[in-house]
Amino acid sequence: MLKSVINEDNVKAVRKLLEESERIVITCHKSPDGDAIGSAFGLAHTLANIGKEAKVVTPDRPPRNLRFLPGVKEVVPYTVYPDFAHQLLQDADLVFCLDFNALYRVDRMRDELAASPAKKVMIDHHEGPEPFTHVTISHPEQSSTSVLVFRLLCRLELFDRIDRKAATCIYTGMMTDTGNFTYNSNDPDLYIIIAELLRKGINKDELYKKVMNTRSTSTLKLHAYAVAERMQIFPELHTSLIVLTKDELKRFDYHPGDDEGLVNAPLGIEDMVYSVYLREDKDQIKVSTRSIGNFRADLLCSKYYHGGGHINAAGGELKCSLEEAIEIFRSTFPDIEKYLHQ
Ligand code: 5GP
Ligand code: MN
Repeated sequence: MLKSVINEDNVKAVRKLLEESERIVITCHKSPDGDAIGSAFGLAHTLANIGKEAKVVTPDRPPRNLRFLPGVKEVVPYTVYPDFAHQLLQDADLVFCLDFNALYRVDRMRDELAASPAKKVMIDHHEGPEPFTHVTISHPEQSSTSVLVFRLLCRLELFDRIDRKAATCIYTGMMTDTGNFTYNSNDPDLYIIIAELLRKGINKDELYKKVMNTRSTSTLKLHAYAVAERMQIFPELHTSLIVLTKDELKRFDYHPGDDEGLVNAPLGIEDMVYSVYLREDKDQIKVSTRSIGNFRADLLCSKYYHGGGHINAAGGELKCSLEEAIEIFRSTFPDIEKYLHQ
């Protein structure tokens, strides 16, 4: 028996909205990860099984390693089909906003989402949900949005309607947001849920292989290069920095998602607590950070990098040069020191 997490009023509100709605859109944050895509399609497949067609509209394209997931080929990325995405958002009665807590997280789709006349439901696990939805199911203590989708479906008495396709997507989100159950993964409920998903027919070993071990040779070389040549360690701060320029990424034939997991690599070093990775994109610097234990990566990201996230996994963006971004990183040292001792 799972413990009850989502409050009954929210469950009732979603049940009513589902009954009233014909046209449903499910969306998630930009640069969608395994949890964003997994939760979206886990929900979409289950809604399809009760006769509701739900379209998944993402701000941009899912990464290559997730495109094998059931249904993902039908996704409507706003960057690829802006008019279709606009129409779907305008015509929708109900929009589920999954795995994000603030409108700006959908990037250029922000105005379209805000302008949609649909009722909106947030299902998310980031701190500080902004009030842009009619129903807000926000649980930062839960390790993934996918696990929240599973919980919500159970509370809506739709457990039996979760099929193998939905279970596959939900498991993928649970797996990727916990680093294959290596962090945020001490809740016993997770393993009850995994058992249920296995009974639905998922192949968890194959999923791990397909999501995690389908890199190209050049991607593996990019990771090796980044660690060997572009990683700096600050031992007294238990901190590391990896920096990659546009040119370096190009040399390794970089595609979005290829650097997934790179920021975790330095935390494999004994006593390392905080890892920062700066990637030079077209017109900004993408910041990705990870930490161990109580070290507040999220607070550093919101203070210095215009971002946020979770205690141990946070990110942000800087509109400046790479050199300036490195300077900003250096300016965080006093705070790193402070957080190390909290
Ligand atoms: P990643 O480092 O994998 O890109 O992101 C890790 C986590 O940091 C994400 O799950 C998300 O919560 C958060 N995050 C990443 N980028 C941003 C950003 O630009 N803004 C905010 N608010 N959070 C971000
Ligand atoms: Mn997530």
